[in-house]
Amino acid sequence: MKFHFLIISVIITLISCNQNQPRIEGLLYSDGTPVLITIKDGKISGIMRIGKPAKKNTVLYIAPGLIDNQVNGFAGISFTFGGGELTAEGVKKATQELWKTGVTTYLPTLTTNSFEVLKKNFIILGRMKDDPSLLGSIAGFHLEGPYISPVDGYRGAHPLKFVRKPDWNEFISLYEASGNNIIQVTVAPETEGAIEFISKCVEKGIVVALGHHNASAAQITEATDHGARIATHLGNGCANMINRHLNPLWPQLSDDRLMISIIGDGFHLNAEELKVFYKVKGTEKTIITSDVTGYGSLPPGKYVTEEGDSIELTTAGMLRYPAQNVLYGSASPIKKGVGNVMKVTGCSLRDAIQMASTNPARLYNLDDRGTVEPGKRADLILFQIIDNELVIKQTYVSGNLVYDCSNDH
Ligand SMILES: [Zn+2]
Repeated sequence: MKFHFLIISVIITLISCNQNQPRIEGLLYSDGTPVLITIKDGKISGIMRIGKPAKKNTVLYIAPGLIDNQVNGFAGISFTFGGGELTAEGVKKATQELWKTGVTTYLPTLTTNSFEVLKKNFIILGRMKDDPSLLGSIAGFHLEGPYISPVDGYRGAHPLKFVRKPDWNEFISLYEASGNNIIQVTVAPETEGAIEFISKCVEKGIVVALGHHNASAAQITEATDHGARIATHLGNGCANMINRHLNPLWPQLSDDRLMISIIGDGFHLNAEELKVFYKVKGTEKTIITSDVTGYGSLPPGKYVTEEGDSIELTTAGMLRYPAQNVLYGSASPIKKGVGNVMKVTGCSLRDAIQMASTNPARLYNLDDRGTVEPGKRADLILFQIIDNELVIKQTYVSGNLVYDCSNDH
């Protein structure tokens, strides 16, 4: 009997380790029940409810991979900055490091800069988008700026010298440089020509987001009438001193047509803001984003930026700019926001994953991902939740095991 049991165990192990047809056990994120998921040709082929998962997976959840719509860079790589030194290898490295944090799809995000830098980097990113080594992890690109408010506070950290009014011809040059892969633009609706610009983007099927702006209620309504769909990182890209009645927050919260993205890292928005935003927009209309920069995953310490600013990355993951006592962007991957939003709002894991995977998949028409269902891409994460933190154990992209924590040294 023992011998037979050994043989059967070996066979099961071999089946489990078959990279082409992996079998994954764990607790389904949506209801916590134990499941066995089978994968074939990179897609989920079956989900079976089982009595009890294998011992080592008893406390591991399985969820669709996280989809981050605002990634400025990661692991020392910046998609906009870096002295124009973005390389194909850099894109690959950032993607591989993001896999370790549970991100299986993302939008590399380019922020306000010169036409030359943006074009050069879009060309590199456009060439890499469908590189087989990235397994389809890049859905398209997000251009945040340069058509935003020049006003201090609303502009955020975007360099003033490169902020400009919407220019369709310039945008089309960038769009073509990217291989027609810009799928979201964040724009300030009060800038000259913005409404016409928004209409043209919508005609092309590009998601228009409102951000880094000080638009009036009427301007926000007009932009939304013309197809703007989401407010970028609501509550950030906003001046500290605002009119209590007339400010961009109320109209974006009150218009049910607008979704919002929120940076949930615990540093960009306080608990009360997160709670109120979530209460108003709900699970269906909220997207958790990271807005993470190239400092994400770097060790804590002091750094000097390309602009010569001295900044500090704390052990808690806060990126500080001590000279002005402000944040210098985010260093936290989206998984931190998922855990923190659950903690602060009390929402379920199912709802948090919807906001960090299902909703962005829907917004960008990524019909093949964002849920765990037969026929979807096998973009899956296995994780524990410890002290409101998602601890990623394994990441699968298109059925390939791209990260396994047991290989960490
Ligand atoms: Zn921003």
